[in-house]
Amino acid sequence: MTAAAAETNPIYRRVVLKLSGESLSRAGEHGINMEEVADISRQIKLAVEQGCQVAVVCGGGNILRGAQFKEKNVAIHEATAHYMGMLATVINALALQDALECIGCQTRVMSAIRMDGVAEPYIRRRASRHLEKGRIVILAAGTGSPYVTTDTAAAQRAMELEADILLKATRVDGVYSEDPEKNPHAVFYPELDFQTVIEQGLRVMDSTAISHCMENKMPVLVFNYKTNGNIVRAVQGEKLGTRIS
Ligand code: UDP
Repeated sequence: MTAAAAETNPIYRRVVLKLSGESLSRAGEHGINMEEVADISRQIKLAVEQGCQVAVVCGGGNILRGAQFKEKNVAIHEATAHYMGMLATVINALALQDALECIGCQTRVMSAIRMDGVAEPYIRRRASRHLEKGRIVILAAGTGSPYVTTDTAAAQRAMELEADILLKATRVDGVYSEDPEKNPHAVFYPELDFQTVIEQGLRVMDSTAISHCMENKMPVLVFNYKTNGNIVRAVQGEKLGTRIS
């Protein structure tokens, strides 16, 4: 490979990108803001144009998280609330799909809960085939099971689709010793190992997701998607954010 080719070719052949629901809404707001969705879609398109296969796991927290009903509303069983959260991820996935298709990307939404009218069922081999054909696969409805989050879904899908890395897009630059939005003196970690994340209880992803990644040696990059171009930089293996391996 020439130096020029090495510069334009992505390091990662296949990635799973975890987008939280809040990445589809304006800071501090709920719901979907299509300008935010368009911004992130343009970044994903650029990443695919580099030759990287991209599967996106959508969160649903901009609409609903199951845990918010815990003990507050006895009329809604906690499991039901989690199913509602999974349905929220499908709403986000459909918004992202249209935004991506609008700018010329080929996409498929695959749902872990069967929803034949709006999405394909998630089937690992079929998802892999879509990715090989350059389609962006948007993975909706998390794992299809309650009591976990889409971080766990992202970790599972990254493993089963044999992604090179799990890219966790956030609104901060990476992992800090404390919440940098609350403590400006929080220490930034450019590199971490899974054991440290678990032992120090660092807020990266939920603990099930971290354990899955650690046990299966799936590296995770936590980075700031708000900096324009960072999704492309991430798939090209540029040094940014916090890499956990
Ligand atoms: N959820 C679930 N099982 C899954 C994935 C998600 O029950 O496999 C529910 C859970 O209640 C979660 C909600 O869906 O809170 C929305 O997902 P998440 O909180 O991960 O969204 P994000 O924080 O990434 O926006």
